Amino acid sequence: MTFKLDDNLLLPLGGNWILGEGADMPLFNPADGTQMGSLKTASLAQVETTINAANEAFVNSGWATLNPHLRAGYLFDAANLIRQRAESLALLQTKENGKTLTESNGQVTSAAGIVRYFAAVCESLTDDINPARGDYLSATLHEPYGVVAAITPWNSPLTMAAQKIAPALAAGNAVILKPSELTSVVSLELARCFTDAGLPDGLLSVLPGGPDVGNALTNHADIHMISFTGGTETGRRIAKAVAPRFIPTIFELGGKSPNIVFADADLEAAAKGVTAAIFGSGGQSCVAGSRLFVEAAIYDEFMDRVRKETAKINVGDPMDSTSNIGPMASFAQRERVEEYVRIGREDGGKVTIGGARPEGPEYEHGAYYLPTIIENLSHNSRVCQEEIFGSVLCALPFDDLEQVAGMADETAFGLACGIWSKDITMAWNLGRRLQAGSVWINTYKQLSIAAPFGGYKESGLGREKGLQGLRAYQQSKSIYLGGFTS
Ligand code: NAD
Repeated sequence: MTFKLDDNLLLPLGGNWILGEGADMPLFNPADGTQMGSLKTASLAQVETTINAANEAFVNSGWATLNPHLRAGYLFDAANLIRQRAESLALLQTKENGKTLTESNGQVTSAAGIVRYFAAVCESLTDDINPARGDYLSATLHEPYGVVAAITPWNSPLTMAAQKIAPALAAGNAVILKPSELTSVVSLELARCFTDAGLPDGLLSVLPGGPDVGNALTNHADIHMISFTGGTETGRRIAKAVAPRFIPTIFELGGKSPNIVFADADLEAAAKGVTAAIFGSGGQSCVAGSRLFVEAAIYDEFMDRVRKETAKINVGDPMDSTSNIGPMASFAQRERVEEYVRIGREDGGKVTIGGARPEGPEYEHGAYYLPTIIENLSHNSRVCQEEIFGSVLCALPFDDLEQVAGMADETAFGLACGIWSKDITMAWNLGRRLQAGSVWINTYKQLSIAAPFGGYKESGLGREKGLQGLRAYQQSKSIYLGGFTS
């Protein structure tokens, strides 16, 4: 049965749920190509009124000065609502971006955990008393910025939005979320968990729309901070727009992460890990291990193992619990992947598995693509250097540690990397040396909300998650109290 969405979905704008007055945005299910409905997006006039309402709420609601443990109460309630609504949130995410329902279920649990974590951090927030160097008392207070614009991508809308909304609110700010065009509906329903938790009016709004809406937000004088997750080129555009205003920004951008396998590794575990690192979520993950470096002595044997693991991946209907990956999130994304595979072939690459759409009536109308491995490419080819954000792995042999350490960093990005070896001292030292915000040794894609996350180089600026993930949404003020001497 075709999945249908209400064509009159309301948007939480400045404290009221109302119809968007912008363009109608058609919503397609990437698993079968059907149009699920259309969303009335926010108009530019609504962007303006929403920013005004958020500023009004920030100044007058008392949220910024509410004791942190009371702010935490709202967040705990929102986390509970996310859990209670898990089934519908997971279903919406799967219908909008084609992630398997199994993965979406996991991400709802994760989103609730993120909100709970920041509620707990908020509950135990402290200000600081500084060592005195004279007859005064010096305290450093941490204060919110004002109105934060949170701009998110389509690949993991629930967790990406939760990890911005929760710390920004916990820190005392008002938030305006601009979700991706592809995943607006699930983002609206996530926001409903916060507004239904009784959050004061106007503190959280959602503005669905395209780059015009994002652009209106980033260029507005009454936005006091930008927290962006998305592509590096979009990040660069936003950085240029906000630079003259000196407002704080967080940029979580793209990646082309290396996975390095040494000859002494547990090859079975490494083959499974390397395969999951790139093909999990159909490669549509910022930390996907998309460049594989294998020590030359084991290259052929190891690539046989990786191909065998890849062949086991069941591409299919994301609603089916036996599917490991669903379609690409959109037909445009599949075209992008196909274009890169074409470029890889043209550049002399050898496609050793995949490289095509799966065949069969069940795939005919969806944006499906087979997990693909390309070998024989030179490391400076486009496929090895540019973020594809799809299920394409490029594999290269290496001769020694120095060579692979050089190649691993020979990229504009620096988001993550994987190292597989039984020599933990060597792996640890290599991990210390490489330019990456997250390093995994003998594992991959383990993520904890308690550990800071972010990119080196063109993979981003600033960190989300962890205690500093909340402090990122605050500025400090040092106050000196004198008059102790007579
Ligand atoms: P994108 O950059 O195209 O869009 C991201 C968001 O920015 C969307 O909401 C979009 O509408 C908005 N946007 C586009 N142009 C804008 C503009 N000029 N001003 C303001 N907003 C604008 O990215 P995408 O295709 O949605 O997502 C894929 C990208 O996200 C990949 O590069 C991936 O690596 C990255 N990503 C990074 C992380 C991370 O944590 N580092 C996590 C997930 C995804």
